[in-house]
Amino acid sequence: MTTETFEFQVEARQLLQLMIHSVYSNKDVFLRELVSNASDALDKLRLEKLRDDSLDADVSDLHIEIDVDKEARTLTVRDNGIGMSYDEVGQLIGTIANSGTATFLKELREAQDAASAEGLIGQFGVGFYSGFMVADEVTLVTRRAGEGQGTRWTSRGESTYTLEKADDAPQGTSVTLHLKPADPENQLHDYTSPWTIKQIVKRYSDFITWPIRMVPEAADGEDAPEPETLNSMKALWARSRDEVSDDEYHELYKHISHDWREPLETIRLQAEGTFEYQALLFVPSHAPHDLFTRDFKRGVQLYVKRVFIMDDCEALLPPYLRFVKGVVDAQDLSLNVSREILQQDRHIRMMQRRLTKKVLSTIKEIKTKDADRYATFWREFGTALKEGLVTDSENRDAILAVASFATTHAEDEPTTLAQYVERMKDGQDDIYYITGESRQSIENSPHMEAFRDKGIEVLLLTDAVDEVWVDAVGEYEGKKLRSVAKGEIDLDGEKDEKAEGEREKQAEDYAGLLGWMREQLDEDIKEVRLSARLTVSPACVVSDAHDLTPALENMYRAMGQ
Ligand code: ADP
Ligand code: MG
Repeated sequence: MTTETFEFQVEARQLLQLMIHSVYSNKDVFLRELVSNASDALDKLRLEKLRDDSLDADVSDLHIEIDVDKEARTLTVRDNGIGMSYDEVGQLIGTIANSGTATFLKELREAQDAASAEGLIGQFGVGFYSGFMVADEVTLVTRRAGEGQGTRWTSRGESTYTLEKADDAPQGTSVTLHLKPADPENQLHDYTSPWTIKQIVKRYSDFITWPIRMVPEAADGEDAPEPETLNSMKALWARSRDEVSDDEYHELYKHISHDWREPLETIRLQAEGTFEYQALLFVPSHAPHDLFTRDFKRGVQLYVKRVFIMDDCEALLPPYLRFVKGVVDAQDLSLNVSREILQQDRHIRMMQRRLTKKVLSTIKEIKTKDADRYATFWREFGTALKEGLVTDSENRDAILAVASFATTHAEDEPTTLAQYVERMKDGQDDIYYITGESRQSIENSPHMEAFRDKGIEVLLLTDAVDEVWVDAVGEYEGKKLRSVAKGEIDLDGEKDEKAEGEREKQAEDYAGLLGWMREQLDEDIKEVRLSARLTVSPACVVSDAHDLTPALENMYRAMGQ
């Protein structure tokens, strides 16, 4: 039997070093990560078997098992789920595919102290590698369901790992941690104690829908007792609200989102009637780093009558709510339902509408009740939500009601459109905004001069999507949304005939100069005209009211249009 030795990627090695010299004080969570992976593996196998009955796999007693061996100081987490092939082990366990890891490691190196480092680790989570917080050697034995050949992976978490074929591997995966020497100071975290393990499973993994079993210690001279199931396996979304603690909800969130932080909000919905379903949704407290990338995995988990059907079910929420995580469990769908069917199903569309409204009304509630939490929400997800102003006309008003924007009115307090309208000056008919790359660059733009002089408030919009939604929305409560940088703007009102006359005369006086300028700049501009909008700067470039602005052109170009 040949054993191959491989080097960890640089990033994986750095991460492992962190785990070994763990800066993370709550080491118990390694067990949550291993159980979470085992549970995922069981879900995947059940599903694969459901889709393909000919798969040569045993699904008669899917479960997770935890074994401790006090003498050998080992702890094993075993599942009889989907398992991994030889190549998969190398890919999934030997490298870190997650593109956020590089960012994470960079931030971590720059972290000033242990507390901020711990905060950072909490943000990213390290899954399987967290075993190295408590173990000095980890062995993983796995066989992919339906395949004959197993694989053994071992590592001491240093620079290398080994891979070899394992002929005797049962279906599924077992991960054995060789525990670091016991800490006599800290009996509570003795991972060879079945009592400790039981507490940790109860605390972090109770809701896992597969049995998590452990064989209790045998008393001296007696046969090994029957295994005991440690978790209640009750689906949290099917239990009544007062039966479930916030902590329990949060642990479920961490399991499904792979986020180590608490969610910002938990949303429950029970729909009764002809099409019955339960939903348990979470708004995270931080936007994932890849929220605006093309391959961001969006969607909630779909269950049918407690059976996990799919991750990332996109059909249940619109793209602009792609940051929402959670579970939807429907009673009346077929277990064989596919993504294609979901896209066309009338009931699913109704669910999407209802869930969308529920999420938006919850955001509104947060906004009314808790300014700080709302500010966090909008900072993290406002940009995504604004896409809904363009794509979801049905809920446009609900989105506008929770949307806020930077404004010249206050340095660091964003405004809603309603508040803007309340402050509008007598005779001001329109809502003014300016778009650009950053607050600083647009505040200093020459377009702003006249507005500053006259004390007229201007919204400062710096997201690419702002250029699109202002056009799509057009007006708010009968007030037109107008760019200070587009078209003709007359801040003094049309009625000022004397000024009008003066401007005409000026235009005649300067006709020669304007014509000359037009000729000189012919390649780059459409027109040269006198302006009433400048007070200090001699000239500025203006777009037509319907031209694309540069930022938007970039956006469309990036989208390949
Ligand atoms: P994550 O669970 O966030 O994907 P992990 O580091 O926990 O990250 O696991 C990495 C990958 O290794 C998983 O996505 C999965 O494909 C594979 N894996 C880990 N544990 C198991 C297991 N018990 N059975 C099958 N595959 C597993
Ligand atoms: Mg995991």
